[in-house]
Amino acid sequence: LLTVEGLRKLYGDKVVLDDVSLSVAPHDVICLIGSSGSGKSTLLRCLNLLEDIDDGVITFEGREISDPRVDARAVRSRLGMVFQAYNLFPHLTVLENCTLAPRKVHGVRRAEAEARALEMLERFGLADQATKHPDRLSGGQQQRAALVRALCTHPTLLLLDEITAALDPELVGEVLEIVRAEAAAGMTMVIATHEMAFARDVATSVCFLHEGRILEQGPPTQIFTDPREERTRQFLARVL
Ligand code: ATP
Ligand code: MG
Repeated sequence: LLTVEGLRKLYGDKVVLDDVSLSVAPHDVICLIGSSGSGKSTLLRCLNLLEDIDDGVITFEGREISDPRVDARAVRSRLGMVFQAYNLFPHLTVLENCTLAPRKVHGVRRAEAEARALEMLERFGLADQATKHPDRLSGGQQQRAALVRALCTHPTLLLLDEITAALDPELVGEVLEIVRAEAAAGMTMVIATHEMAFARDVATSVCFLHEGRILEQGPPTQIFTDPREERTRQFLARVL
């Protein structure tokens, strides 16, 4: 579905991603772990074409999307992305947030977009919040609504960047529950996370990033119990 080969990204003369290669197959749930500043967010932003890259090739659904002639908006319309915070448009209700992209980008008619969005909001326990503005919702409800909004465009790949990092601990579970449900339903995802227990539980594969490189990648059981790299060991010893 998505491949990255030899990706390199610099900010000024600082190398933030160096020779990153990654392959994402349908239904994969790939968790990116690593210290703050290791390049997780930058990698996700490169996949979403929010950043220019300095070298390497990104292919999505068989097309080379790192080609500068590619229409980034068209690519992004097939990808869903949810960030740590500030995901919803504050001046729109939850329902309007969820129907905006389907209507404006995908040309779905209002009634149909609303019906689909309400069904999704219902599924994730947010039907009562549909006509409210985001500032009337708890942080957990806001992030759940942000996930629903991303899912309403039926993305083929969902990119999640620390979606629970800004939440009070008691709200983390309800947000991760949606991600678990989507993983179980076969959604393909690349997830940057500091929640190791969650990564261990939901990932089909875990990538450990260190100073802009993928130092090792493997199934969660192997990475968490028997990492090959000393750096991975040190990182896990600090966070587990
Ligand atoms: P965290 O766990 O804290 O979210 P991360 O793994 O997501 O960290 P990135 O945000 O990808 O790390 O940052 C990687 C490196 O790139 C860091 O050294 C950071 O300072 C640098 N960086 C990120 N964004 C920019 C920017 N817009 N301009 C310059 N440097 C940046
Ligand atoms: Mg980050």
